[in-house]
Amino acid sequence: MKKRLFTPGPTPVPETVMLKMAEPIIHHRNPEFGEILTRVHQNLQYLFQTIQPVVVLTCSGTGGVESTFVSLFSPGDTIITANGGKFGERWVKMPKAYGVNVVELKIEWGKGVTPDEILAALKAHPDAKAVYVVHSETSTGTATDVKSIAKVIRENSNALVCVDGITAVGAHEMKFDEWGIDVCVTGSQKGLMIPPGLAFVALSKRAIDKMESSTLPKFYFDLRKAVKSWQGNDTPWTPAVSLIIGVDAALQMLRAEGIENIWTRHERLANGIRAGVTALGLKLFSDSPSFAVTPVWLPAGVEWKQFNKILKSKYGITIAGGQDDYAGKIFRLSHLGYYDEFDMVTMITALEMTLKECGYVFETGKGVQAVITSFQQ
Ligand SMILES: *Cc1c(COP(=O)(O)O)cnc(C)c1O
Repeated sequence: MKKRLFTPGPTPVPETVMLKMAEPIIHHRNPEFGEILTRVHQNLQYLFQTIQPVVVLTCSGTGGVESTFVSLFSPGDTIITANGGKFGERWVKMPKAYGVNVVELKIEWGKGVTPDEILAALKAHPDAKAVYVVHSETSTGTATDVKSIAKVIRENSNALVCVDGITAVGAHEMKFDEWGIDVCVTGSQKGLMIPPGLAFVALSKRAIDKMESSTLPKFYFDLRKAVKSWQGNDTPWTPAVSLIIGVDAALQMLRAEGIENIWTRHERLANGIRAGVTALGLKLFSDSPSFAVTPVWLPAGVEWKQFNKILKSKYGITIAGGQDDYAGKIFRLSHLGYYDEFDMVTMITALEMTLKECGYVFETGKGVQAVITSFQQ
C-alpha cells in the first residue's frame, strides 16, 4: 500500500531531497559544508523576505521559539501572547517557566486575534517588551493578519513583533523587513519539506540589540552566539549536517518555484480543499482559515476512531485529529509543503470513500467535482 501523509508537520519530503540527505556525511568545518550553509543562509533570507540574519538551530520549532524567549528577555519582563490554540498556549506557558510575566490574550479557537485586540492589550500594558502571535495556528487551522498587527504594534509601542511562523512560512505571505517583524520562527518539517530537527529564526536589528540586555540563563540557545557564527556562515555547535544538506536542496526548489508562486499555490490548494469538503455538506471549523491546514467538523454520526482507522489502514492516508476540546470532533487536512492539485484530488477521493463507509450520506463524486472546478477557475 502506498502511504500518504496529509499532516501539518511532518510533511512529505521530495525524493530529490531524500537522496541528498542519504549521501555520505561530511564534516561541518569543511569548506564544502561552508558553501552549503552560505547558500542556505541566502535562500532563507529570500524565504523570509529579509536582509537580516536567519539563523539555523538544531532543534524542533519549539526549541526555536524557546531560544527567542531566553535570548531576548529578563526575569520580570512583561510580554503579551495571543493564545487561540495549542501553540498560542505553549507561548504562554514557556516564558512563564522562565519567570517572564505573560499577559495572555485569550482568543476563541478558530478566530484570529485582531489588531484592535492587540492595541487594547498594548494600551493596558505599555511596559510590554514584546507581542507574540501565531501566524497560522495549526491546532485550529486559523490564520492571523500579521501584517496589520505588526503595523499596530510598531505605531503604538516599542514592543518587539514576534511571530510563530511555523506553519505559515512557505504558505502565507511573509515580508519580514517590509512589515516590520522583529522575530519569526519556523521549523524544518513544515513548509520546508524536510524531516523534523531544524528551526530557523529571523531576527531584526532591534531584536539583536535587545539581546544585549537580556539576563535570562542560556547557553546552547543563546542567539547572540548563533548570530555571531551566522556572520561567518558557521554554527556555534555541531549542526544536523544531513538535514542542512536536505534543506539546501529544498530551498533551491522553493527558490526555483518563486516565493509568490508558492504563496498562491498554497492558497489555491486550500481553496480547492475547502470547496471539496463544503460540497460534501461538511462544515469548516475556522472563521479565518489558514492556507496550510484545513480543519473540518466531523459530521454527526461519524465516529473519529473508525473514520481515522479506515483512512489509515485501508487507504494508507494519515491526517490529523482535533486537540483538547475538539478531539474526536474535528479532523485536519494538511496541504502545507510538497503538494500539488492532484494530491488534493486524492485526499478528497479518500475522504469520500471513507465517509461512505462510515455511513455518511452524500452524492458520490460531489467533493471531487468541486475540487476540480475550483482548480479550473
Ligand atoms: C508544529 C508547530 C510548532 C511546534 O514545532 P515543533 O517542531 O513540533 O517543536 C509550533 N507552532 C506551530 C504553529 C506549529 O505548527
